[in-house]
Amino acid sequence: MLQTLILLVFSALFISVHSIGEAYVMSGIEEIKNILTAPISITYQNIEELKNHIDEERVRFINVVGKNGSNSPDLNIFSNEIMEEIRIRFTGKKSPLQEWLKSLRNIPNEERKSAGAKINELKSEIENSFKSFSENYRIQVENKKLNSETDDITLPLTQLNLGSRHPVMTVMRDLMVPFQRMGFSVVDGPEMDNDFFNFEALNVLKDHPAREMQDTFFLASEWVLRTHTSNVQSHAMKERKLPLKIVCPGCVYRNEFDMTHLPAFRQIECLVVDKGIHMGHLRHTINELLNAAFARPVKLRFRSSYFPFTEPSAEVDVECQQCFGKGCRSCKHTGWSEIGGCGVVNKKVLESCGIDSSVYSGIAFGFGVDRIAKDRFAISDLRSLIDGNVSFLKSFGLV
Ligand SMILES: [Zn+2]
Repeated sequence: MLQTLILLVFSALFISVHSIGEAYVMSGIEEIKNILTAPISITYQNIEELKNHIDEERVRFINVVGKNGSNSPDLNIFSNEIMEEIRIRFTGKKSPLQEWLKSLRNIPNEERKSAGAKINELKSEIENSFKSFSENYRIQVENKKLNSETDDITLPLTQLNLGSRHPVMTVMRDLMVPFQRMGFSVVDGPEMDNDFFNFEALNVLKDHPAREMQDTFFLASEWVLRTHTSNVQSHAMKERKLPLKIVCPGCVYRNEFDMTHLPAFRQIECLVVDKGIHMGHLRHTINELLNAAFARPVKLRFRSSYFPFTEPSAEVDVECQQCFGKGCRSCKHTGWSEIGGCGVVNKKVLESCGIDSSVYSGIAFGFGVDRIAKDRFAISDLRSLIDGNVSFLKSFGLV
């Protein structure tokens, strides 16, 4: 009676331990470890004993990987390390299988053939089964990894702050579109240039006010930071073949800084030199470009003016984009806003660049791109364009 009771208590304990998942897993690992590490007898007295050893080894291997390696490896038990231990235990250099293969040479000839066949049969079974089992293991690991990486497509999008173009760059980009359509070449030039290309070749004589200290940043000896992109025109007329049809966008420098002037700003300059070029070409081209720069048709006004490198010359005004001609603070109540200068290239400029002015004529104009951006986007102070104020940029959807 007492014995029956003790047996029941043990049974209850046994069942309770094995009904807990973790305990089961632990026992699974233990079982495998026991098989891998249990001491086994590999020596034999006769061929029958060898055959028995081989059959036992086969059972041990099947207990680990299943028949033909068909078990589905539980990743709570199997790991890369355990897989390697199985490989070494059953096929490694010191495995029973290899020892038996080595021992074949000691078996008498008449029995060697059947012993060899038995060992090789086990060898091929183990190799094929382990291959299948390894593949099953690899698939299990891959599936586990894929499941853990599944994307949740219902998650909300992360708001990316992509930024946008600066207003000056927006104007520059829009300005370049008609130039491209009309077949102009874009030409780049040096921002630091010598006196000849920045002034003299453009007929800016030694006593011209543009050379005064308050306007120009003078560098060593004859060098200056270019005060306009017109220096590219001088280079182009000297270095390129006629006819010329070029546009020169770029940064220029003047020693000025207030609401309507920046010390570094962008200009776009255009030059056409060919036979029969006249003021009509100039007006048409400027009209096309400024409509593009403002992204809407704008009213223009040409006021007679003086520039050393053009004759005749004119200032180009655009109807004020804030009051549309009525007059406001921004346009100083004139209804117009000054955008740039233009004219027919002065014959002296053509001659100084080695061009025969009796055969060729040219037109040129230059616009301040920042000035256009100021008018187009109704910016009251030009300095806002460069001070990096985030709230200003945000108002343009730029950040
Ligand atoms: Zn106005």
